[in-house]
Amino acid sequence: MSGKKGEYSRREFMKTAGAAGLGSALVSLGSLKQAHGSNSTQVPEQMMVPTRPFGKTGVDVSILSLGGVLKPSDQLIFRQAFKMGVTYWDTADSYGWGKNEKAIGKYFARFPNDREKVFLVTKAATSDPNKLTEKLNESLQRMNTSYVDMYFIHYVSDVKKELTDDVKAWAEKAKAKGKIRFFGFSTHKNMENSMLAGAKLGWIDGIMMSYNYRLMLKDKMKRAVDACVKAGIGLTAMKTQAAFTANFYSSIGSETDDAVKLTENFLKKGYTAEQAKLKVVWENPNIASICSAISNMTILQANVAAALSKQKLSGGDKQRLKQYAQQTAPGYCAGCASICESTVDLDIPISDVLRYSMYHHSYGDRETALTLFNALPADVRTNILKADYSKAEKYCPQKIQIGKVLKKAYEDLT
Ligand code: SF4
Repeated sequence: MSGKKGEYSRREFMKTAGAAGLGSALVSLGSLKQAHGSNSTQVPEQMMVPTRPFGKTGVDVSILSLGGVLKPSDQLIFRQAFKMGVTYWDTADSYGWGKNEKAIGKYFARFPNDREKVFLVTKAATSDPNKLTEKLNESLQRMNTSYVDMYFIHYVSDVKKELTDDVKAWAEKAKAKGKIRFFGFSTHKNMENSMLAGAKLGWIDGIMMSYNYRLMLKDKMKRAVDACVKAGIGLTAMKTQAAFTANFYSSIGSETDDAVKLTENFLKKGYTAEQAKLKVVWENPNIASICSAISNMTILQANVAAALSKQKLSGGDKQRLKQYAQQTAPGYCAGCASICESTVDLDIPISDVLRYSMYHHSYGDRETALTLFNALPADVRTNILKADYSKAEKYCPQKIQIGKVLKKAYEDLT
């Protein structure tokens, strides 16, 4: 306790509130055991994570997807996820520098019969058809499988340049050989433009995009989702927690009256703000699945409980999330790089660097942030300190202090 007698500090409140919320999630999962007998390892069907159709593929996928953060030693989490119906597994050749794919390969070596029940997705960070075959073969080998259900080109931001007729021909050939069932891309910046352009191509089966309680409010994102649905493209939401770009923004997200009210409101209903952020995305039936970075059993249980919950968010709940999104907008980069990057004279991938800063400060993953930042050409990195961001800050719809965050990212990651 701190401050006045009998009054928690905000930080103490948030800690207590978080624990209570997860507790309620665990209680929900406790009913799994009750429903099926305490010694059973089978999970009854009504306690399995539901599924939704994935675009026009004809495949139903679990609405919660196991995101690629696990290591080969995390086999229990794969096993438990599978048993609870989390059978959409997402990875990439770059996650953990191949370790996440190896972790999946270790699982399939032990449980080969589970392979055909998993919707397995991996990605390659290249759109060069001459490199894709080798990349895919390496991924298949690491994952102990002869095929993937979905193959994504990773980090697409310019569909015209990256999804060429040669890539289409490569995808068709890989499908004909039985190495991939479906093909698409993931997109972290200029998502809406990429989705709108992808919907016009006619040969994209799936798209994985940043999508959350902030981005889903934007008219352009609504149009992009509609266009993809009309084109029969399956959609997977990622970055659904909409983490902050830098730690000096964290105070606006965790200790304000708004954050406390938001947390209190959801806890009264039996779930955490984090679970509410998942639920609001699932309330859009056009989103087939949410890819979540599930790094431990507690997060798995909390997210599964949210997926099983039949309780709808009220209009007031959604309004509170909307207000929170508006109040904390300057802490979140919406990926609309075409707005800010063209206003700076020097070549600087602003939204990418803000994302690396987010990995560092919000995810606590300095290694990934360091690797990605230092993969930028040296002159691009030094340009960060020289550029004038006044116009970019003026036009940024989130009103981010772009210069300040980029300078901090440079200092942290150099
Ligand atoms: S910094 Fe602002 S304008 Fe640039 S991508 Fe992020 S939100 Fe969009």
